[in-house]
This record gives sequence, C-alpha cells and structure tokens, in this order.
Amino acid sequence: MDNLLNKEELEFAEHMREFYRTEIPEDIRYRQAIGSEEGTHDDVVATQRILNKHGYAVPNWSVASGGQDWTPVQRHIWLNEMQLACVPQPLAFNASMVGPVIDTFGSQEIKDRFLPATANIDIWWSQGFSEPNAGSDLASLKTSAVKQGDKYIVNGQKTWTTLGQYGDWIFTLVRTDPNVKKQAGISFLLIDMKSPGLTVRPIQLIDGGHEVNEVFFDNVEVPVENLVGEENKGWTYAKFLLGNERTGIARVGESQVKLARAKAYAAATKTAKGSLLNDPAFSARITTIEAELKALEFTQLRILSTQVAGADKPDPRSSILKLRGSRLQQDITELLTDIVGPQGLDFVDSREVRTKFTTLPHGAADALKTYFNYRKVSIYGGSSEVQLGIISKALLGL
Ligand SMILES: Cc1cc2nc3c(=O)[nH]c(=O)nc-3n(C[C@H](O)[C@H](O)[C@H](O)COP(=O)(O)OP(=O)(O)OC[C@H]3O[C@@H](n4cnc5c(N)ncnc54)[C@H](O)[C@@H]3O)c2cc1C
Repeated sequence: MDNLLNKEELEFAEHMREFYRTEIPEDIRYRQAIGSEEGTHDDVVATQRILNKHGYAVPNWSVASGGQDWTPVQRHIWLNEMQLACVPQPLAFNASMVGPVIDTFGSQEIKDRFLPATANIDIWWSQGFSEPNAGSDLASLKTSAVKQGDKYIVNGQKTWTTLGQYGDWIFTLVRTDPNVKKQAGISFLLIDMKSPGLTVRPIQLIDGGHEVNEVFFDNVEVPVENLVGEENKGWTYAKFLLGNERTGIARVGESQVKLARAKAYAAATKTAKGSLLNDPAFSARITTIEAELKALEFTQLRILSTQVAGADKPDPRSSILKLRGSRLQQDITELLTDIVGPQGLDFVDSREVRTKFTTLPHGAADALKTYFNYRKVSIYGGSSEVQLGIISKALLGL
C-alpha cells in the first residue's frame, strides 16, 4: 500500500505502525493474531482504553465528541495498520454503531450521558436489531414499545446478539407505531440490560464457541428519555448506522496477516518434496489469493480517495468491498484449514491440541475453529446476496 500514499500519509502510517507496536501489550496482540477467544472481553476493553487515552478509539466521531478531523485515507490507514499489528479493534457496537448515531442524532443531554462512557467502553453496547423473522428484511421487526406515561413497555425478541453476554446496554430498533408503513413506525431505543424482564440466552455455534445470543423482552420498562432522536424516525438512524457498519469491512489488513500465517504454516508442513510451500499447485493457490487481496486493497483506496470526508450517506461501492472482502476472508480460512488438515479436527479444545503439535507453529490448531467461525462474514453486515442486489441496482442500474 505504501507506494500509493503521499508523504504525509506515509508519515502518518509510520506513526500508527509504531504506536500500535509499542503501546498495545504483545500478549493481547498475540491472542488477536491466533483468533483466540481467551480474553476477548478484557483484551477489547484494555485496548480500547489505551486507544481512547490517545484519541484513537473513535476517530470517526465529530471532533466535538472526541473524534479526529481525518481524511478517509487517514481513517483507512488507522484501521489497516491496526489490523496489520493484530490489535483488537474498538468495539464496533460502541465506536462505529451507537456512538455515531448518538453523536449525529441525539440531544446534547443524551450525548453527555452516553458518549464519554461509550468511547472509553465503560459501557459495553450490544446491537438489538435482528429478530427471528427480521434479518435482511429488517423493517419487518416486531418488538414493540408502547408508551405509558414516562416509560415505554417493551415486549419481543432479538436474536444473533453478538457478545450480548457482556452487554451493559443494548441499542434496539422497536416498533412504536404498528399502523403506518413498516419503516415509518420504528424508533431507536437504548435499554439497560440489567432491566427486570430482560433475559439473555446463549446460542452455540458450529465452532463450539459462544459468540451470539437471543435477547428476550418481557414487559421491560424503559424511561422515555432513553429514546434517541425523534419517535418513529428510527429507520433513518438505522440506515445511517448500517452504512457505517460497512466501513472497513473488507478487512484487508487482517486478511494479509492470516495469509502470512498460512505461508508460515505451509513452510513448516513437510512433504516428500520439501515443504507444502514448494508445492507448485499449493503456491499457485496462495499467489492467486495474494493477487486478489492486492486488487481489493487498490479498489478500497480508489473508493476512499474519491469519498468526501464526513459524508453521512452510505457509498453503494462499499458493497463491492464487503462482498469481495468476505469471499477472501473465507478463502484464506479454507487455505489454512487445508494446511492444518485432520490435525485441526480436535479444535474444540484447541489449547490441548496446541501442546500436541510438533510439526506446526503455535496457534495453528485454531485454524479450523476460525474456518467455521468465518462462515458468518458473508451473512452479517448484509449478506452477500443482499450486496449483489445493491450492486446490481445502485451501481449497474439493472
Ligand atoms: C455471527 C453473526 C452475528 C450477528 N450479530 C448481530 C448482532 O449483534 N445484532 C443484530 O441485530 N444482528 C446480528 N446478526 C444478524 C445479521 O444481521 C442477519 O443474520 C442478517 O441480516 C441476515 O438475516 P437473517 O439471518 O434473518 O437471514 P435472512 O434475511 O432470512 O436470509 C436468508 C437467506 O436469504 C437470502 N436473502 C434475503 N434477502 C434477500 C434478497 N433481498 N435478495 C437475495 N437473497 C436474499 C440471504 O442472503 C440468506 O442467504 C448477526 C448474524 C451473524 C451470522
């Protein structure tokens, strides 16, 4: 990427590179590098607090709320260098989702109440949008909030709530008017997850981990002052949030790190003719992914360099980044799985397996767990089919 940046951008990249490698503890970066679940919560909190202390946790917020007056390319460098240094990213629910919504649409009172704690992750937010029958078609959501005096009474269910087991608060889309066009009756409500009547239930995934949850609301009382912006304008705020969710979703830096790991594992895997890395078919596969990743990086920079800083309308071209980025992330986890082979099958207790490994470097056993876990990337943040729909309508005019 460096040969595409101007002098100031190169200096900025160098500064961020050094910052991440000197300020963020190495054990945190190692756990992030191997995709370990150990320490997920504590590592994210510790890292975000260090970033926040230096003004690097929420650069995408307005300067008045603690953000940075950066260009889109600087924001890209900030994120890409973070991924290359294997630094856990600021919690997306706080930094890229509810924070910008409150910052842009909230009253001064709600900003003062929530933004500092959100930037410093004193509040861990969860995202309560999806429901069992409202995912891609989110506007069909049914969870209701009925106003009674100075409270809303909330009833319904959310699902796929990522890391909801750690959630202090949940930002939700709720139906406040069932009698109008479905998009026009939705509000954006902040709910304390310790409220009586709110229950979190784990969903176990095929990788054996506990990353997502169901959240149930049974007559949960929510003070009206927890409404963000205006009642029944929640769909506008949700569209703004979902546009931000796609920012940086291509995860080029993270994929580059994983590809480097794949090469190291392939080099350590002995075959009759030397190592797997010397196998022409295998190295052709690695080279193809490398070239596609480079092309994605160029596309990302091309899109970023023509974007206006601070633009609040989602750029439909980000659907290309989401689509290709997801595909490549999955391709690389498939590559890693093929290298590890049957040794990865015992992934459920990967720590124990790691100690049994003699031929592969530390961390290799997590490859299969990551493979299963990464089936998600073509679903969340808008599924690949939905991205194809956006590309065909908004970019190709079909
Ligand atoms: C790991 C993970 C974490 C998540 N975390 C959260 C979270 O924290 N909070 C939250 O609110 N949600 C979360 N989600 C939910 C996520 O946003 C939804 O899963 C996603 O929007 C898809 O919705 P759905 O699962 O209901 O599938 P559906 O919308 O029912 O889709 C089913 C299938 O139909 C296809 N499809 C749907 N509509 C179209 C269309 N118009 N054109 C072509 N094909 C279509 C889809 O691509 C998919 O293959 C998470 C999901 C996953 C997998």
